[in-house]
Amino acid sequence: MNFLLNERMLLEEALKLRKIKDEKPTHTFQVLIKHFFKEGLNKTEVLLELEKFLQGNYKYNFVRLESLLRKMINSIHKNYMEIADDYKYRLNEITQLSIPKRELDVITALKKTNGEEDLELQKFAFSILVTARLKNLLRVNEEKLDLFDDHREIIKDAQLSNEVKTRKKRMLFELKEKGLIEVPLKITSTKCKALFITNDTDKEITITDFNNSILYFLKWKGEKGIIDCAKCNAIVRRKTNNQKYCRNCSVDADRELARNRMKTNRILSSIQK
Ligand SMILES: [Zn+2]
Repeated sequence: MNFLLNERMLLEEALKLRKIKDEKPTHTFQVLIKHFFKEGLNKTEVLLELEKFLQGNYKYNFVRLESLLRKMINSIHKNYMEIADDYKYRLNEITQLSIPKRELDVITALKKTNGEEDLELQKFAFSILVTARLKNLLRVNEEKLDLFDDHREIIKDAQLSNEVKTRKKRMLFELKEKGLIEVPLKITSTKCKALFITNDTDKEITITDFNNSILYFLKWKGEKGIIDCAKCNAIVRRKTNNQKYCRNCSVDADRELARNRMKTNRILSSIQK
């Protein structure tokens, strides 16, 4: 997923810690700019506030960043110029996404010409669905457009097997043939439309970990060994039978275990003395 789903959280963190997150500093700049605009500041004042913010962040040199920040301020200002007040500079706050049963039924009905299930095409369609539904939530007006683009990102999210590599380019057209999507006639436009999105509100699948959204689909389909981490709720493929945590959390859990063991040993040896 290459877009920012929870701007609210990022902003709160940034304001609290007075810090820029290192992985994607531009994301933090983006939420700060929206926040300052929302507060009623003008472009010059927004730039001044950013300068103040960066003063405490030794890693980021304001002078070096200034032209980038100016560009960002201008483009965000322009993007929101025509937007209604309710949506103006609104921060995204998506923590979960629900997929209704009927949409999953359309996906699982995708078959190969020999009648076998077409799992790879299903995974691709599921990723399209997740992307288009998220885009609907991220919209800046009342209209749900069911659009998606950035096909490369969608293919990545679908975690397709290597064997289908050569087929990837055709998959969009296969879905178009089957009536699931609309592909623009103009070759320059990359925005496609998912036609199988309903207004249903039932929550057959609820996605909370967007790094591995495809695993929710596979788990729902009955694939064994997919678990939610007992600590952080990330969805993961289990590597051993008794695995309870994702990789990050199990490293933490191991450390804690080692710490506790050391503590116990210390206590025991002090008793023995
Ligand atoms: Zn975890």
